[in-house]
Amino acid sequence: MNLRSQILFQDQTRTRTSDLVTAVGSWHKTYVHESSHWARYHGSTVGILLSLLRRTRDQLAAYTISHLPRQDVEHLHEDRSSGLPFFSFERYPKHAQGELKYSELDWLNLYFAYYLLLDPEGLTEFDTATWDMRAAMEHSLEDMWRQGAGMEMVECPDDVRVGIDGPLKLVHTSEGPLTSRVLFECAAVLDELFQVEGAFIRKADPALREFLLEVLNGEYGMPCRLARALAGRTLGGSTVLALIDFALNPVVPGLNSDDPSVDWKELYPPYRFVTAAKAMTGWETDLEFQYPSHEATVHFQHMLAKRSGLRMGSVASRLSDLSTLREAATAPMHLSARTPAVSLMCASRLLALRERDVCSISHYGVNFLGERATRFIKPDRDVQWLFPVFQVSQGEYRWPAEHVGLDEATDLLIGAAVASAYDDILHGVGPLAHDHLPRSLFDDAGQVEALNQVLKDSTGLDMGWHRT
Ligand SMILES: [Zn+2]
Repeated sequence: MNLRSQILFQDQTRTRTSDLVTAVGSWHKTYVHESSHWARYHGSTVGILLSLLRRTRDQLAAYTISHLPRQDVEHLHEDRSSGLPFFSFERYPKHAQGELKYSELDWLNLYFAYYLLLDPEGLTEFDTATWDMRAAMEHSLEDMWRQGAGMEMVECPDDVRVGIDGPLKLVHTSEGPLTSRVLFECAAVLDELFQVEGAFIRKADPALREFLLEVLNGEYGMPCRLARALAGRTLGGSTVLALIDFALNPVVPGLNSDDPSVDWKELYPPYRFVTAAKAMTGWETDLEFQYPSHEATVHFQHMLAKRSGLRMGSVASRLSDLSTLREAATAPMHLSARTPAVSLMCASRLLALRERDVCSISHYGVNFLGERATRFIKPDRDVQWLFPVFQVSQGEYRWPAEHVGLDEATDLLIGAAVASAYDDILHGVGPLAHDHLPRSLFDDAGQVEALNQVLKDSTGLDMGWHRT
């Protein structure tokens, strides 16, 4: 729905301290938090799965919108202005004719599958109660595989049917639902805590540490409490981080291998987390007693797989042929493909890093401590992927000037903005949303006009962003 998985938004709201050392520490901590999301997302199979599902949905949207008969375009405008989305779960099936009938169902399934995996709270209660979850997951995984076959994913047999075994249950706890989003958030707070406990910020205001512990008492700490309850004993932050990393790397049909079936328990990250935490009963690991290392973490994953009966997901094919950001910005491709191309290129670099140094992702906070931190003084080619490539700081769009120029960075931003509009066009109402785009873009009438023209050229719709 927005660019937040692509672009780091630096907001100042969490800086709540007065002296300089602490302000720097606090900025650093916020940066660590948001960058942790980036590295964990793009460096895990669930993130790659989400990027691929998103690409499939956006390409279906791009095709559908640009092939809409004139009459449907009129309906779309009328519906929007009266507050009715063109595609919606509540009013399905709305389009009874031609291709639109199939596009509507496929698009809704892809949307549903994405949010089911990331955060079912992005769906309304009505959607989760009435929609066929299994059909949505199976069809979406299949569409995604066909689109990525022989490229990001392994070859796909012609008659393949993706099957999900076991009941498709969500994970409910006494504190509310456990979602993949909460796992990402919990990990990011633990990563931040690593900073405070480490050498770098030792001088900082102890209020920072208290603030983080307070955060862990809320929703974001739920996985820690749940793991403790399921394991029947206290688990340190390092162990919880390893459990989260295991959970966020599900086995995905077509990505892991050409086996078209997978158990829901092995696919759904919150379920993986629960099963993994239970497997900690009566088992103490090296991770609980020593500073996290590549060897100890790999060994932990191996033992955990044995004890839990769940495999660690991996990517069997070559995820991206692109080797630089410049290529991702300039290689000829449809607008809707550009953002996922950047994501998958970053993902392939992060997976390579994961192979050599799993802790740089599983225990993201260690990147800024001790010897590892010296890698940033003269960053090598792989370490740079641990940070979001594009950022918006105080409303201004920023890009890595050593990798792309103004034109390329602008093309990438336009690709991301247009792709974010597809969801809005098909599923939103009223004027196009723009609160997820860099504010400075809207200070310049010329830029807004140019962006609207690209949207019009690529969709055929006269529906632009407007300044407020
Ligand atoms: Zn967060």
